[in-house]
Amino acid sequence: MDIQLDTAPCGYFSISDSGVIMSVNQTLLDMIGRERDELMGKHIESVMSVTNKVFFHTYFYPYIQLYGHVDEMYFSFRNREQEDVPVLLNGVRQMRDGQHIVDCVVVIMRKRIEHEKDILNTKTKLQELYQATQEANQELERLHEEYKIKEQALIKVNEQLELMASTDLLTGLKNRRFFQEKMAHHLSLYHEEQREFSLLVMDIDHFKSINDTYGHPIGDLVLGNLATLLLSISREVDVVARYGGEEFVIILANCGEEQAISIAERYRSQVASADWGEYHVTVSIGAATISAADTELSVFQKADDALYASKTGGRNRVTHAASLVRR
Ligand code: GH3
Ligand code: MG
Ligand code: MG
Repeated sequence: MDIQLDTAPCGYFSISDSGVIMSVNQTLLDMIGRERDELMGKHIESVMSVTNKVFFHTYFYPYIQLYGHVDEMYFSFRNREQEDVPVLLNGVRQMRDGQHIVDCVVVIMRKRIEHEKDILNTKTKLQELYQATQEANQELERLHEEYKIKEQALIKVNEQLELMASTDLLTGLKNRRFFQEKMAHHLSLYHEEQREFSLLVMDIDHFKSINDTYGHPIGDLVLGNLATLLLSISREVDVVARYGGEEFVIILANCGEEQAISIAERYRSQVASADWGEYHVTVSIGAATISAADTELSVFQKADDALYASKTGGRNRVTHAASLVRR
């Protein structure tokens, strides 16, 4: 064998049709750790594991007989230490010196296998990471659901707190704090959109005598019943609140002087004509309608002055602040 083929950078061997080794180069001998004498004249399968022998029988021989060549066949030799040496083989069957010879070249595949192992490891790691990511995502979704439920509960609690903070406990009407917020709101609507509104301040007449005659708990009952009556008369857009003690305030939305007087009159007359049992309940009302120069305080003051006029004028009556100015 010439030196170039003997030391070529690939293994080379030739076998007869029946698989007997006829020549082998040094590169292949080094690859599988064998001596030339050891292999010459031996069957090629003597340097293969049982599995590879079966494989060789099943694929290599039939294929090369049929097509005359085998390309990129992958199998393993056995070295002296009985370890597998994975190789890639190309073979060609050709006529030489009146005899069929199969020439084969092999290159070691170890690096490629390691590379494949690396790829497989990476793939496994990726799958594990993917799995972990999916689990983390599921956990995140679960936490998000939990968060949404808690957020809803919190919103509900806040709404309840808000309601409690704006409600008068005794009467269930809106309280003074809420009234003041709404006054500010109506005042800004008036300045921005010229939406007129009026304010009623209402005070129970001689309420002290109801307390004195029937006792404080009955007084409380009257306050509650009056609140219910006021609410039943009020319009959806109006704000009815307990200002304190036996004083109530009503913001009449989109309401001018004349309408305020007639609405106040309706409140007054319905309270006076309601069935209060053995006691008699009337209210005095002061009304005021917003004007350009007004502040929250001034409009309240005007309504309160009008209320005072209703009291001094004999009670159970309505006075609009505008009539005081005219006087
Ligand atoms: P006027 O017609 O001048 O308004 O007479 P009045 O007796 O209603 O007025 P006054 O301010 O002298 O008395 C108000 C009374 O309202 C005194 C107080 O005991 C009573 N009052 C205030 N808040 C409550 C309450 O929450 N429950 C009860 N039962 N009475 C209250
Ligand atoms: Mg009073
Ligand atoms: Mg009173």
